[in-house]
Amino acid sequence: MKIIFSERCLEYHTAGHPEGPGRVRMAQHYLDRLGYQFVVPEPAQREELLLVHTEEHVRRVEEGDFSDPDCPRYPNIHTYAALSAGGAIAAQEQGGFSLLRPPGHHAGPGFLGGFCYYNAIAVAVRRSNLKTLIVDIDGHHGNGTEAVFSGDPNVTYVSLHRMYNYPGTGHHSRGNCLNYPLPPRCGKSLYIDTLEQALADAGANFQQLAVSAGFDTHKDDPLASLGLEVETFYDVGFVLGDLALPTFCVLEGGYIPEIMGPSVEMLVTGLAEAAKTAEK
Ligand SMILES: [Zn+2]
Repeated sequence: MKIIFSERCLEYHTAGHPEGPGRVRMAQHYLDRLGYQFVVPEPAQREELLLVHTEEHVRRVEEGDFSDPDCPRYPNIHTYAALSAGGAIAAQEQGGFSLLRPPGHHAGPGFLGGFCYYNAIAVAVRRSNLKTLIVDIDGHHGNGTEAVFSGDPNVTYVSLHRMYNYPGTGHHSRGNCLNYPLPPRCGKSLYIDTLEQALADAGANFQQLAVSAGFDTHKDDPLASLGLEVETFYDVGFVLGDLALPTFCVLEGGYIPEIMGPSVEMLVTGLAEAAKTAEK
């Protein structure tokens, strides 16, 4: 799987903010040493952002006209968030992994939150116009993605996340949005069983799989631990790869810089191994 990445996404930070550039930089170095191919994306166009977001929301991000304690008003944050959305588009077109920041799954049509400004995976899915299964393995519920696709007959959204945690949504499934809240630090066995159940519940007949790839379910993550080991992301990849669908991934959370590279590698390897097995 190609890695979609641009150095530009490392240009902004706030001291002490968990969503810092180190987490992506360390992953990029790790994957580069392993010989992964890197592709630099173009930023998403305004019309592409408007497939998901309101005109007013895009204007507010462009002008820094918003206030949210989790979403600093970085200079040029519109540019970085549009580049992150462009990375998701490139990942969709090339079957790659978009390794960019800021993340996106907490951004809805008219709101931002949780370190997210534009919903990158949603932009890529909408733009593709394909019947899509989105599986959100970030440890937080993707309230933005759910808000974008709720009631959309073209998309099924599945989220496994830690219960009673930010942003306080995702307690129940509704229509095409299937939510699986899990107890803190529940561990691999319950997690994988739940993922398999979720995929069975989601049904078949999709044209592509889009993975909101967060790694804050790792056992030591400060924000959303579900007790998973780095190696568990291989199993997650294998279960998802078994669907044998054209697949792309978009980075969401994960706040231990040292585990980011190995976790991406595990997920991507699991996906590839399952695809190979499916071909036989
Ligand atoms: Zn998260």
